[in-house]
Amino acid sequence: MTDRADAVVIGAGVIGCAVAFELARGGRRVACVDKGPAPGAGSTSASASIIRFSYSTADSVLTAWEAAAMWRDWGGHLGIEAPDGMASFVRTGNLIFRTPGYDGAPILALWDDIGIPYEVFDADQLRARWPGLDVGCYYPPKRIDDPAFADDAASQLSAFYNADSGYIDDPMLAARNLASAARHHGAEFRFRTEVTAIERRGDCVAGVSLGGGDGIEAPVVVNVGGPHSGRINALAGVDDDMRIGHRPLRQEVFAVPAPAGFGVDDGGPVVADLDIGQYFRPQAGGTLLVGGTEPECDTLEWVDDPDRFDEHTTIDHWETAMLRLARRLPDFGVPTRPVGLAALYDASDDWVPIYDRSGLDGYFMACGTSGNQFKNAPLAGQFLRAIVDAADAGIDHDADPVQFTGAMTGRQINLGAFSRNRQRAVTSGTVMG
Ligand SMILES: Cc1cc2nc3c(=O)[nH]c(=O)nc-3n(C[C@H](O)[C@H](O)[C@H](O)COP(=O)(O)OP(=O)(O)OC[C@H]3O[C@@H](n4cnc5c(N)ncnc54)[C@H](O)[C@@H]3O)c2cc1C
Repeated sequence: MTDRADAVVIGAGVIGCAVAFELARGGRRVACVDKGPAPGAGSTSASASIIRFSYSTADSVLTAWEAAAMWRDWGGHLGIEAPDGMASFVRTGNLIFRTPGYDGAPILALWDDIGIPYEVFDADQLRARWPGLDVGCYYPPKRIDDPAFADDAASQLSAFYNADSGYIDDPMLAARNLASAARHHGAEFRFRTEVTAIERRGDCVAGVSLGGGDGIEAPVVVNVGGPHSGRINALAGVDDDMRIGHRPLRQEVFAVPAPAGFGVDDGGPVVADLDIGQYFRPQAGGTLLVGGTEPECDTLEWVDDPDRFDEHTTIDHWETAMLRLARRLPDFGVPTRPVGLAALYDASDDWVPIYDRSGLDGYFMACGTSGNQFKNAPLAGQFLRAIVDAADAGIDHDADPVQFTGAMTGRQINLGAFSRNRQRAVTSGTVMG
């Protein structure tokens, strides 16, 4: 090995950069290594970057609620004004349909407890506020070749709405901002550099080997490899010590013209619609981003090798997304040509992330982010720092999980909820978490 650091962070996505930032501002000499060309160029670059609070567990809701305060005061959180501009939070509100399979009651109980404001709309109120919506209940979501796909609505939906939700306008810029803040505290970034081995000394991590024969010695290594993090955990040999699995899952997201009332300039909300199996949100330029919510009728596309998957959109996904969306937004003119992308989630068994230590002392992980952790990146950086600090102080996070105090609410988040060895959490079993 040719170099030394106090901590190596593997991966410079939005979460890796947040981990590098927090470890560096905690006083560690940090080296962040990424095989890609720039911060956020991995799965972060494909993110819909939605900020919402509709998770199934108390710790997940509180995490998203606390992290949102960091995005709202992004410059204050980073402590710098980045030279290449700052990512911004766009407040749109989040409308969540109540479907027979997802009535929202557990979420609203958590929101009541934490003090997250919301409104509940019946079908008439929905139509009055968003006249372009068809509020019919078509549940369950169907394949478009299902003869029942075109059936009339069985009933009318209601929904709940939180006004403080929205999205980050540029996910890659957010990662770059975090990298700039990390550099400000002395972190070093190396791009186009692949970690090829995790080095051990006895029962402890000793550093990483890099492609080309170099290496970095370090007593702390954090795996934030996104869809590649399973491979990196395999290099470290820590898989056998994990009860929760995680693996790459292919997704397609499309950009389509926003119908009236659903653009960012005319009050369009982020919409979670498990009734048709889609989510959508406005973005600049008069478009909507449209993604899927893993309805049971759709086949999940698990990927064995994250370096080899079809990066092009497919007609099947395009038609399905468009025809489902047209049910909810009848004025939406289905465009003739698909515009979109295909990318990977690193989906965990229960759609809750893994922010944890491992069975190898000094080796930590932030993975299994399940298509829903962009919003939590700034706080995930602080979680990892708290877990690394606890290990330094001789605290066994497995036996005595770190309790993290949220800066905004003063409430405790049990980081044991994100353990690799937790019992599977009871969640929606989808990207909604
Ligand atoms: C299509 C899509 C939509 C999403 N929408 C949302 C959303 O609306 N809201 C939300 O909260 N979340 C969303 N997410 C999830 C969120 O974007 C991710 O959880 C987050 O971006 C992951 O960041 P990361 O830093 O962990 O990983 P990544 O951004 O994937 O970064 C991992 C990095 O590790 C590097 N790497 C991998 N292997 C190695 C190696 N051996 N050596 C060196 N470097 C390596 C890669 O090059 C990469 O840059 C979405 C994700 C996708 C794919």
